[in-house]
Amino acid sequence: MALQVELVPTGEIIRVVHPHRPCKLALGSDGVRVTMESALTARDRVGVQDFVLLENFTSEAAFIENLRRRFRENLIYTYIGPVLVSVNPYRDLQIYSRQHMERYRGVSFYEVPPHLFAVADTVYRALRTERRDQAVMISGESGAGKTEATKRLLQFYAETCPAPERGGAVRDRLLQSNPVLEAFGNAKTLRNDNSSRFGKYMDVQFDFKGAPVGGHILSYLLEKSRVVHQNHGERNFHIFYQLLEGGEEETLRRLGLERNPQSYLYLVKGQCAKVSSINDKSDWKVVRKALTVIDFTEDEVEDLLSIVASVLHLGNIHFAANEESNAQVTTENQLKYLTRLLSVEGSTLREALTHRKIIAKGEELLSPLNLEQAAYARDALAKAVYSRTFTWLVGKINRSLASKDVESPSWRSTTVLGLLDIYGFEVFQHNSFEQFCINYCNEKLQQLFIELTLKSEQEEYEAEGIAWEPVQYFNNKIICDLVEEKFKGIISILDEECLRPGEATDLTFLEKLEDTVKHHPHFLTHKLADQRTRKSLGRGEFRLLHYAGEVTYSVTGFLDKNNDLLFRNLKETMCSSKNPIMSQCFDRSELSDKKRPETVATQFKMSLLQLVEILQSKEPAYVRCIKPNDAKQPGRFDEVLIRHQVKYLGLLENLRVRRAGFAYRRKYEAFLQRTKIFIRFPKTLFATEDALEVRRQSLATKIQAAWRGFHWRQKFLRVKRSAICIQSWWR
Ligand code: ATP
Ligand code: MG
Repeated sequence: MALQVELVPTGEIIRVVHPHRPCKLALGSDGVRVTMESALTARDRVGVQDFVLLENFTSEAAFIENLRRRFRENLIYTYIGPVLVSVNPYRDLQIYSRQHMERYRGVSFYEVPPHLFAVADTVYRALRTERRDQAVMISGESGAGKTEATKRLLQFYAETCPAPERGGAVRDRLLQSNPVLEAFGNAKTLRNDNSSRFGKYMDVQFDFKGAPVGGHILSYLLEKSRVVHQNHGERNFHIFYQLLEGGEEETLRRLGLERNPQSYLYLVKGQCAKVSSINDKSDWKVVRKALTVIDFTEDEVEDLLSIVASVLHLGNIHFAANEESNAQVTTENQLKYLTRLLSVEGSTLREALTHRKIIAKGEELLSPLNLEQAAYARDALAKAVYSRTFTWLVGKINRSLASKDVESPSWRSTTVLGLLDIYGFEVFQHNSFEQFCINYCNEKLQQLFIELTLKSEQEEYEAEGIAWEPVQYFNNKIICDLVEEKFKGIISILDEECLRPGEATDLTFLEKLEDTVKHHPHFLTHKLADQRTRKSLGRGEFRLLHYAGEVTYSVTGFLDKNNDLLFRNLKETMCSSKNPIMSQCFDRSELSDKKRPETVATQFKMSLLQLVEILQSKEPAYVRCIKPNDAKQPGRFDEVLIRHQVKYLGLLENLRVRRAGFAYRRKYEAFLQRTKIFIRFPKTLFATEDALEVRRQSLATKIQAAWRGFHWRQKFLRVKRSAICIQSWWR
């Protein structure tokens, strides 16, 4: 009797198409399993574990339906080949325990259901066996689960990797760096109660035995405007509330702080100091402990908290106008605390907050500020103090994560595993400079994704002489160029305008943009738009057609945010600070530097170029996170929201590339291990579908030859589409 066996590349399930009794064969690591349940029925209920198995793989509806079925069954992970798609369950599914880690260790990708730990383990094994640096890129919009995934990955490595011979504390430090960075860099937003307001790339270094021996963090563009302003329903960075809630009486007294967040202007703008999902008091304890683990001395903690408190006091500095309309500080008590906490001269600080120093023809002039200017200077100082402290903190963590044992032989042969947790594409009602930078970052990463997935795929086929028809995809290089090109790009034009203080405004920047890039297919303004589109564009706005969709940016504040000016005398005051952290953050060399510092956008652009270089040098793995609803609720699958994310994460394109290529890959040895029961019989015949690259006869010969101990030249057995059909005549 002819029995047609179809090998399905998920969970190593073999679908046995039997004339009378449809059944399913599963070959796990512990042997063969056969169920009588129809594989198709199972498929209907829980969907396919790998999107490449979708029959209607070009249909967005089928893609989303598959996600929905799995989500309903709490199956939040699905593959597109090696790419992991994850849907935030907004509930604890108990799937990250030690047992789960063990289940995924040393097991092939396809032998177990899709899981983040499968990616973690595959990446780790590649790192060890091929000794090639790896990078896991985690992307998705705010609240999709990037940071959670990063933490789970770190936890996996911390718990399952062998301990290093020396310096075992690095594992704890790697884990404990997280709560500290989150306290200072995360905040409650409308989209996420624990939203990362900075981008993060973390390298974990492993020695030749696979033990973590060190780490390094790069941070990107902290959203410092949050220090002085929060939208309704949002909070400032967690650390402020944690300190007020959890700090000991004695500490608060020393810092001159009251427990109630309502007392601080920088904490009341969003009107939501209390968040039900956040326990600031217990989080404070975690942060406090973590600071000790990452090598903070008691003095350093004190210096750090002084700075946090000084930001709160700064927010409460008020000014009143004198007869000449010049600003005067009226809050003496706050000034007194500030002077002490920042360790600066009171009179210098008072003067710096109400005057601006101008150097003209070699002479220093003090020009008094009006109320508005003084408030601007105060806020600029608060933002600078906080963001520079954050940068210092990252540096401090890096010093603690650096391997102490540089001379040891294990250090010399380290391999690196990178974890990228960076902001996703942002489209708000009102989009400004920050969204422009974030979306530019996403364009760069999307380009890298396209390049790496297509390039590596094509290179492999070429190397092995396999015919391959390129898949059409949208190359977003055109948008990256529009933003970053020298002289003609948006950043260049913005920088140029920033060089004309006093003359240039946000609107002259817009005009210059209109002149320079008017014919670009991805750029539009009110003036350039046709009658119909014009209605949807304000006069102070420009629209970019990103790969993920249209975003309209308001130019208001672009120049100011890009310049990021801190008046000279405020800088001088801070350079004189005796607070050891502040004196490291504000270096005197800044004052004598004749060269203009790089603008924010240019700095960001350069840091992104560096990031792309780092990522390009590594073997990539992808986790694409999806947020199921805006209400942060479990069990709700909002189709419109999800469809949008599927589109901008490029998941369907990704699937098309995967399907056009070869979906199922197993090393020969592994494949033979799995299929030997079928070739035990001499009469076994391997038939292939027309799409199979290797001809039917040669496949049979090859498998049998290899089974007898021959080696194949090609690395993989390739099966086009989703399945190989094996026909065997059983005796
Ligand atoms: P942002 O860009 O704003 O930083 P994010 O993608 O990092 O967003 P997370 O902070 O990781 O989002 O996730 C938001 C929240 O969703 C988490 O605080 C957690 O409550 C929940 N969540 C995310 N992933 C999971 C998961 N795998 N299991 C359970 N809950 C999760
Ligand atoms: Mg995050």
